[in-house]
Amino acid sequence: MKLKDKVAIVTGGTKGIGYGIAQEYLKEGAKVVITGREKETGHRAEQELSKLGAVKYIYEDVSDLQLLQNTIDQTVSTFGRLDIYMANAGINDANKTHFIDITSEQYDRIMDVNLKGMFFGGQFAARQMIKQGEGGAIVNMASVNSYLGLDSQVVYTVSKGGIVQLTKVQAIALNDYGIKVNALAPGPIETELMRRVGNDTQLMDTILSRTPIGRIGTPNECGKLAVFLSCEESDFIFGQTIYIDGGRSFQAFPTKGYKTVTDQDYELLQQIKA
Ligand code: NAP
Repeated sequence: MKLKDKVAIVTGGTKGIGYGIAQEYLKEGAKVVITGREKETGHRAEQELSKLGAVKYIYEDVSDLQLLQNTIDQTVSTFGRLDIYMANAGINDANKTHFIDITSEQYDRIMDVNLKGMFFGGQFAARQMIKQGEGGAIVNMASVNSYLGLDSQVVYTVSKGGIVQLTKVQAIALNDYGIKVNALAPGPIETELMRRVGNDTQLMDTILSRTPIGRIGTPNECGKLAVFLSCEESDFIFGQTIYIDGGRSFQAFPTKGYKTVTDQDYELLQQIKA
């Protein structure tokens, strides 16, 4: 087991990618805290995940710094320590406001969760790890939109771009303490957040036609990468953002008609979405 006896926090671990990461951490022997705002969802997730190992749900809104610290404190009082901080919680900007019309309230809502919450969550986690004196791992959740420009989700894209730089400076700043910092950057993954985008069938068509592998990914595939970035197997990887996207971040032209996805595959995708 790659994470035997390690203690991990997965922010936003109550559903979606975070839930898949929590599953993979538990399978590798970690004790896991999951957080999120909807208590009913959190308690249900805790119950389901407990079949795999020791897990606790803690209510948290990552845009509230006191609650971020509370999560660290409760983790330590429950499981005795903190070894892995998976900063996964994030929201996107479903209303597609044009850059010209974005208000400071819309900006703050996304940035407070996606970037400020990750920045200070990582800081509080690092303080705890430094206190313990045995190093640790911080993994940040970026996105293909850390790299690709998406003008229908301007603030989300800006926040995800910032995470790549946050990951680099954290890695350098925390190196002396033996705390490893990297990020994972998913392409389209089958989650509620993605399903909201998927309701726009034209956009989904475009996404899939520019994903060479011809499908969207799963939360557990992201979870396996998170395990790798959290365990000693990745110890020479430093401040990197690893793309897990089926090629989404560098497919220049639509895939249809290209050999990686046949017309038959494409028709099947249409049927699944219908
Ligand atoms: P999701 O299915 O909507 O799940 C988001 C999780 O974060 C939930 O547990 C949610 O719980 C929690 N959350 C949201 N706001 C929070 C807040 N303020 N404080 C604490 N927890 C909060 O989304 P997802 O698709 O799994 O996305 C997870 C991460 O992956 C995000 O950072 C997202 O940007 C990134 N990502 C996703 C995709 C994709 O295709 N799905 C692609 C690239 C990157 P509550 O709602 O109960 O708070």
